[in-house]
Parts: sequence; C-alpha cells; structure tokens
Amino acid sequence: MRESLDVLIVGGGPAGLTASLWLARYRRRVLGVDAGRPGNAPAWAVHGYPGLADLPPGELRTRLRAQAEAAGALWLEGEAVAARGVRDAFEVQLDDGQTLWARRLLFATGMRELLPELPGFDALYGRSVWHCPDCDGPEVVGARVGALARGPRALALVQELRTWAAELVVLTHGEPTELDAQAEAWLHERGIPIRPERIAGLEGEDGQLRCVRFLDGSAIVLDALFFNLGCGPASAVPAQLGCAAYEDGTLVIDRTGETTIPGVYAAGDVTPGARLTVRAAASGAAVAKFLHLSLGLP
Ligand SMILES: Cc1cc2nc3c(=O)[nH]c(=O)nc-3n(C[C@H](O)[C@H](O)[C@H](O)COP(=O)(O)OP(=O)(O)OC[C@H]3O[C@@H](n4cnc5c(N)ncnc54)[C@H](O)[C@@H]3O)c2cc1C
Repeated sequence: MRESLDVLIVGGGPAGLTASLWLARYRRRVLGVDAGRPGNAPAWAVHGYPGLADLPPGELRTRLRAQAEAAGALWLEGEAVAARGVRDAFEVQLDDGQTLWARRLLFATGMRELLPELPGFDALYGRSVWHCPDCDGPEVVGARVGALARGPRALALVQELRTWAAELVVLTHGEPTELDAQAEAWLHERGIPIRPERIAGLEGEDGQLRCVRFLDGSAIVLDALFFNLGCGPASAVPAQLGCAAYEDGTLVIDRTGETTIPGVYAAGDVTPGARLTVRAAASGAAVAKFLHLSLGLP
C-alpha cells in the first residue's frame, strides 16, 4: 500500500534540514532526500553563522541532521530525478527507482556556482579563492585581490570587495570586459586596473594563492581571488515540474514560500535573496510553519 508523507523535502542542506526539524516538531510526517553534493564542501568553515563560529560545513549538516532525526524527521540518501502530481498528491522518483508520495513538496536544492576551469583552481577554492564576498570578504582585509568577472558582475564584485581589500584588479581571462565607459571610468578613478589577458593557471601552495599566471608567462601577485561567472539551479526537477523561475534560476515564491505550483514550496539558496547559511536555515524554519498551516491544523 502506498503511504503518503505530509511533506517530502528534496535537498538536505541547511534549508532542508532546518525545515525537517521544524516540521517534525509540528508532528508532521516528513522525509527528506539528499544527493550528498553540498556546494560548500570546498569551504573549510561556515563563516558568520550565529552562535557557531567557523564550524566546518559538514559538521553543521551532521549536527542539524541529528537534531532533525531526534525530533522525528527521516532522511534518505538519494537523488530526486523526477516529480509530478498536484497539491495533496505528489509523486517523486528517486535515482534508485524508489517512488515517494507526499501531500506537499519542498525544494531546498540550492544553487551551483559556475566555476572557472583553470589549472590550480581546485587546490585553492575555499582557501584563498572564493566566489562570495559576504562569506569570505573579511578574510582579505588589506590584501591584494583579483576579481575574475565581466560586465556588471565585475563592477558589483569590486564594489563589494572594496570594503576589505587594499588593492584590486579585474581579470577577464581573455574575454571582452563588457563594461560600459562609465564603469571603466569608475574603475580608473579608483586605480583599479583591468587585466584582459588569458589566464594560464593559478599558482600557490597549501591553499594560499601566490599569483595568477597569464598565457604569455607574465604573472600578477595576489593574496586572494574572487570570481563571479554566474550560477544556476542545482536541480532541474522544480523546472520540470513547472515551477516558474527568475532569470538567475531562483524559484518564484510567494511570502509563504509557495512556488507557482500549488503545494510545492521552496527554501534556501534556490529562492531569491542572500545566499548565506543563516538565511537558508531561517527560510527553512519559516516555510515549515507555512507548510504546517497549509496542511490544516488538527
Ligand atoms: C564554497 C562555498 C563557501 C561558502 N561559505 C559560506 C560561509 O562562509 N558562510 C555562509 O553563510 N554561507 C556560505 N556559503 C553559502 C552557503 O553554503 C549556502 O547559502 C547554503 O549552503 C545554502 O543552503 P541550502 O540548504 O539552500 O542549499 P545547499 O547547502 O546547497 O544544499 C542543497 C542540497 O540539495 C541537494 N540536492 C540538490 N538537488 C537534489 C536532488 N535532485 N535530489 C536530492 N538532493 C538534491 C544537494 O546534494 C545539497 O546537499 C558558501 C557556499 C559555497 C559554495
């Protein structure tokens, strides 16, 4: 006999885990499924999470999951590969062929950063090469910092990084800058050069960037590098189900966290807003309350 859950959560990051904790506290039948591909795995610590200074990201997940399971939530390892149905009768297929049924769906599937394909990148990402100034800007106070990005993203990145960095340089890796004259003038007035050369690789040791090497053999000495090449949703399942999304891939939600498909909710990075662990966790708790109310009070 098929048993229907109250809520099936897809994605076991801070948003999904926190939602499961609160749904369990509301005595809902809640199960989460997680593919085990946390985007923040390269980071050595989660910075700025209230009350838990610089906890490793895996440790935060382990603690959250233990807390949610102790409250009564269930979690499975697996990937949701397809979903269909309507409010009160959703069906989700997992990659192992299993099918789960639920009255409500919550997507907490996160986003994926587009990463530069550069030799040396993997050894430095999360240590001295980052994408998020909010998360890692305070690591570069007084430092020489590169900003690998183009167009409005490049301008926004250097504007944010000026809070911390002493010296900045824009790197475009052989692509056109895509900056208008006003933006170029803004950079020029602040002594921020643009290096358009193609990059051969990133050099450093023990996670510490030393320089960016260009194809012609020259190099620029830097303490850190930030990049913004754009991002996209980590899962295609919400789009496949018909949930509307903004241009950047985040899902359209109302104030309760419900997407444009009735009965389907979203929380965390996959919704518009600051991509920070604390917001992901908070939005998971908030959406849990609305899910609980939408299921009807006893
Ligand atoms: C390198 C890096 C460093 C960061 N550093 C910080 C920091 O210092 N401080 C800070 O506040 N924030 C930081 N962040 C941001 C923070 O990690 C995110 O804001 C937060 O993890 C978002 O939580 P989430 O639950 O929405 O999504 P995620 O944490 O991305 O979790 C989504 C989960 O969904 C799962 N999933 C996706 N699709 C499916 C599917 N189809 N089926 C099953 N599971 C699926 C994935 O496996 C993943 O586990 C960092 C991010 C990165 C990438």
